Amino acid sequence: MPDLFIGGAWTAALDEGTREIRCPADGSPVAVVDEAGGKDTALAIAAARHAFDEGSWPGTPAAERGDLLLRVADLLVRDKALLARAESLDTGKRLVESEYDMDDIANCFRYFGHLAAQVGDRVVDTGNPDAESRVVYEPVGVCALITPWNYPLLQTAWKVAPALAAGNTFVLKPSELTPHSAIHLMRLLSEAGLPAGVANLILGSGPEAGAPLADHPDVDMVSFTGGLQTGRRLMATAAGTVKKVALELGGKNPNIVFADADFETAVDMALTAVFLHSGQVCSAGARLLVEDSLHDRFVDEVVRRARLIRLGGPFDEQAQTGPLISAQHLAKVEAYVAAGLAEGAVLRCGGARPSGDPALADGYFYLPTVLDECGAGMSVVREESFGPVLTVERFTDEDDAVRLANDTIYGLAGAVWTSDQERAQRVVSRLRIGTVWINDYHPYVPQAEWGGFKQSGFGRELGPTGLAEYQEPKHIWRNTSPAPQGWFS
Ligand code: NDP
Repeated sequence: MPDLFIGGAWTAALDEGTREIRCPADGSPVAVVDEAGGKDTALAIAAARHAFDEGSWPGTPAAERGDLLLRVADLLVRDKALLARAESLDTGKRLVESEYDMDDIANCFRYFGHLAAQVGDRVVDTGNPDAESRVVYEPVGVCALITPWNYPLLQTAWKVAPALAAGNTFVLKPSELTPHSAIHLMRLLSEAGLPAGVANLILGSGPEAGAPLADHPDVDMVSFTGGLQTGRRLMATAAGTVKKVALELGGKNPNIVFADADFETAVDMALTAVFLHSGQVCSAGARLLVEDSLHDRFVDEVVRRARLIRLGGPFDEQAQTGPLISAQHLAKVEAYVAAGLAEGAVLRCGGARPSGDPALADGYFYLPTVLDECGAGMSVVREESFGPVLTVERFTDEDDAVRLANDTIYGLAGAVWTSDQERAQRVVSRLRIGTVWINDYHPYVPQAEWGGFKQSGFGRELGPTGLAEYQEPKHIWRNTSPAPQGWFS
């Protein structure tokens, strides 16, 4: 069966392009999928435009749209095993992590399913007895949803669920590397009863299949999650037609550990913060900032444990983390480590591909790496390697910690570890970051907004603001006693 989904029909690419997907853990072939070009994208946009302008979905009562999302959540639960396996084959991620993701994805659909019905009109008190004023929340229109490979269906759900809850139609363009969970989502949306043309799926490369989405006058909004350079390019292109733009870009997230932190927990979570999914997490705690007096003991223990982390493929039950997504990405991570060492960082562990384990020989594995004695000017500290690379910097006091933490163009996430709750609140209030954890790392809930300050992007996903991104407020004023004003008489 073909893999592009346009106007409610499965279709092949017009120029018959295809792409072979291989598992990053061992290079084994997963499937061959259709690969769209710009002409296919134009067809998908036309289908979404028609479904928005002529179709029933934007005018469907919000509660009914919410019910459909709840049905999708149930279908996601039903197909959890199938979806998790597909996602693990595409990404190389451990199966258990993909299974957690599927639970989160179903919860996301459930959250927006319930929220859809709760958004009502807002009545405005004009102070004028002869006027009624209210604000209604309408869908934006045709949304282009562009997602990355690290959490393929999760990032997709954060966009698709609120876009549908608000009554939009969309064209989804997932990463060319990880198409399979998006393909299955289209099946589930149809099974749940979504009208044809509301959801459209384009597979293909960013420059070929994705770029026209930002350019096309029939697209009203682009919501993008991915790298900073791509985000900048999309924003510039979207300016040509003054589209609404939402960007979820990268992070270079500080994990700040004060000497009075709970040692055992802070060490344990410093590892989780950066090495989960081999660091391919936008909110990864890749910059460890440690109070000077704690530095030696803390870093020694982080290094000792990092050396013990077991790498493996998605179905290796002993594995604790998996491969990088591609040979190209592996080369990028290696280049950042080499640059860090050339700039004076001290390699404490890792810094190489694993050797000696035949099970890892054909995958894009890289050892958990700790670079100590880093400085804020180093490229490996400033830029996102998006790999299992922890840089360590020392700080002297609270002001120094805040200064180092904020010394980045990014502002996505970060954490503070201390047993002094007043200090924790002081530091948190000074961090220019979208999500900040106190004595924890990584948890999120669909009820709370997610997004970045500074060049980590703008707009928010999740929470009520995540729905508002996909709505246009419209003010409706009604004069209840129309009469001439005589202004120009
Ligand atoms: P990219 O920016 O390379 O790609 C993201 C998506 O954009 C992919 O679907 C890609 O397609 C597409 N794309 C690439 N070029 C264009 C273009 N010119 N026009 C339209 N679309 C295009 O990022 P990665 O996939 O490499 O993802 C990693 C990045 O994503 C990291 O920097 C990470 O921080 C960020 N990220 C941010 C998150 C957040 O919540 N803030 C969450 C997850 C990741 P293709 O793959 O086919 O090239």
